[in-house]
Amino acid sequence: MKLSKSFETSMVGSFPRPAPVRDVFTSNSKIAPIKISTPGQVEEISVDIIKGDTKNKKNEHDVLINHESNGINEHLNSNYMDGLVKYAVLLQEIAGLDVVTDGEWRRQAYTHVIDDLCSGFTQDPRPGIRFGLIVTEPISAKSPGLLANDAKFLVNNSNRLTKISVPSPYILGARLWDPDYSTKAYPTREKFIDDLVPILNYELQQLVKSGIDIIQIDEPDMAVLLDPAKEPIYGDREYDLKLGSTKINEMIHGIDGARTAMHMCRWNSLNRGWHWEGGYEPIIETLKSINVNQFFMEFSIPVAGSVSILKELPEDKLIGLGCLDPRSELIPTAEDIVKRVEEALKYVSPDRIGLNPDCGFAPDIRHNIPLDECYAKLVNQVKAAKILESKHS
Ligand SMILES: [Zn+2]
Repeated sequence: MKLSKSFETSMVGSFPRPAPVRDVFTSNSKIAPIKISTPGQVEEISVDIIKGDTKNKKNEHDVLINHESNGINEHLNSNYMDGLVKYAVLLQEIAGLDVVTDGEWRRQAYTHVIDDLCSGFTQDPRPGIRFGLIVTEPISAKSPGLLANDAKFLVNNSNRLTKISVPSPYILGARLWDPDYSTKAYPTREKFIDDLVPILNYELQQLVKSGIDIIQIDEPDMAVLLDPAKEPIYGDREYDLKLGSTKINEMIHGIDGARTAMHMCRWNSLNRGWHWEGGYEPIIETLKSINVNQFFMEFSIPVAGSVSILKELPEDKLIGLGCLDPRSELIPTAEDIVKRVEEALKYVSPDRIGLNPDCGFAPDIRHNIPLDECYAKLVNQVKAAKILESKHS
């Protein structure tokens, strides 16, 4: 498996949701006409949300949304949401990315897409505790192929490479299984994880058929296990490393025809920073055992350890090199990014390195940061890739 080119550029997955997207999730009644302002730096976009058309026009910075319908599911699959997703894609194309995502704008959180896909989940009755959603009944797929539908829309609306993210069984087990609420359905989190695997494997099979280029498995909780200073949430580091990696391998078993990838990071609390600290050394042997083609790894923050760890990974593993921090308001220059990537080039050849932020810009809907800021970072990432191509390809 190869990258499309040296220094292939992408996002990890999510873009912050502007007000019209957030309204879809918070309003169960009619949505009134709304205006969305395009980022100040993007002067040439106009999106006609009502028709779902996206065109480039000069000097029309506002988008009028005037679609009315009832209920969240109708909105999620409406022209209204299609138009917004096209807008997210177009922003990435104009920034110059080689790989585009749908910004994860049809999801409340990267993990909570499982609630759209399967029955068995309930809102956590304890506000502010854990992650808002818990498993309370045995799960079954209520909308099989849901992720492939999102993928098809993306594939049909961009001629760039396309990527869709899927949460790992391990992180869903860690976040959505609760000892107080879930044991009637699943006595252990392992039993819940085991039930997730075939459902997710089926989604991956359908994703391949959709024509998606890259399937990224989100596994940030692997980073919980690399911090030597903190006790892992579930007690046994080695046991959980084995559990997480085995279940990813089972999830991707038989998947052929799309690039598979895994993303990990030290959690993204935006301006509150990261949660876990330390280099990848304690988990590097585990990473070697995971059968994905690419790792999207965080390297821009000071607690991410040395990039020299990359020399430990087998030659056939591609790297999505985290080269800017999505949590910080600071916008790195192209030269800052080039410097970071050139450090990695001491250990990995250019044809194995892609450029991306450390994490998604907004893993869930509450992460409300300016699109302008994200766009400016992506533009500099693309500039850096061009400089690197001219120097190293
Ligand atoms: Zn992340």
